[in-house]
Amino acid sequence: MSIVTNTELLDRAKNGHYAVPAFNTCNLEYMQAIVFAAEELKSPVIISAAKSEVDYMNGHVFVALVKAMTADLHIPVGIHLDHGPTHEETVRCLHYGFKSVMYDGSSHSLEENIAVTREVVKVAHACGVHVEGEVGVIGQAANGPEGKQNDMIGIADPKECEAFVKETGIDSLAAAIGNAHGIYKKKPELRFDILEEIERRTNIPLVLHGGTGIPEEDLRKAITMGVCKINFSTVMRKGCLETLVDTLNKNVGDWDLMKQMTPAREKMKEIAKQHIIMCMSDHKA
Ligand SMILES: [Zn+2]
Repeated sequence: MSIVTNTELLDRAKNGHYAVPAFNTCNLEYMQAIVFAAEELKSPVIISAAKSEVDYMNGHVFVALVKAMTADLHIPVGIHLDHGPTHEETVRCLHYGFKSVMYDGSSHSLEENIAVTREVVKVAHACGVHVEGEVGVIGQAANGPEGKQNDMIGIADPKECEAFVKETGIDSLAAAIGNAHGIYKKKPELRFDILEEIERRTNIPLVLHGGTGIPEEDLRKAITMGVCKINFSTVMRKGCLETLVDTLNKNVGDWDLMKQMTPAREKMKEIAKQHIIMCMSDHKA
C-alpha cells in the first residue's frame, strides 16, 4: 500500500475518529522528514504542495519523489494540491498525477466559487481524483507585532457550506471557523458551534487549515466533530530554518552539506511526529 486518494484516507479517518495530517513541503529533506515520521509511527499521511511549492519543485518531480520515497512502505499516502488558485492551475495537477486537489475560490463570490469548483469536480472525478473546496476566507494570522489577529480571519456561513457541497459535488470541505495560516498572535478561538452546524448540514469530511499553533485539545475536539484532515505548514518551515541557522552558526566554514542539513531534517521529523500524535493518526496505517 502506498499512494491512495484522500477519499480513502478521509473516510477511514472519519470512521476511526482521527484526522490525517497534511504537511506542505517543497524540498527533498522536508519530504523525507514527513515520510520517515509517518513510517515510524505507522500513520497515514498527506503530502501536499501549494502552487508556489509545485512550481518550485516541478509538479512531475514532486509526484515522482513521493511515489519513489513511499514505494516500499506500508502506510497509505496522499498527494495533494493545497489552495489551487485557478481552474487551470488546479486541473494541471491532475496531469502531474496528484491524487487530490483543492480548488480555493473563497476570494470570489459564492456563485463564482460554486461555478468554478463544479467544473474542477467534473474533470477531477473523471480522473478518480478527490476535490477539496473552501468556503469563508481562511486568511493569514497577522504576523507583524502591531497586527490584529482577527483582521483577516473569516467565518463560514453553514448554510452557504450546505449549498456549496450540494451544488459542487466536492468530496471534502475546508471551512473557515476562526483558524488562519501562519503564526497566531494569540490563542485562536475556534467557533465549534459553527463547526458543529457545518458538519450537520454537509455530512462530508471536514478539513482544518492553519493547524500550526492550534492547541492540542482544540484539534482533538475538532476531530470529534468531523474534522478528518488537518494542515500543517508553518510549524515545519520554522523548525527547519531555526535549526539550520543554529547549525550553520555552530559549524562556520564547514561545507559538508549533508552534515549541515541533517539536524534540520531531524527537527522536521520530530515536529511531524508530534503533529501526527496530535491528530491521533499514529498506528492507524
Ligand atoms: Zn490553507
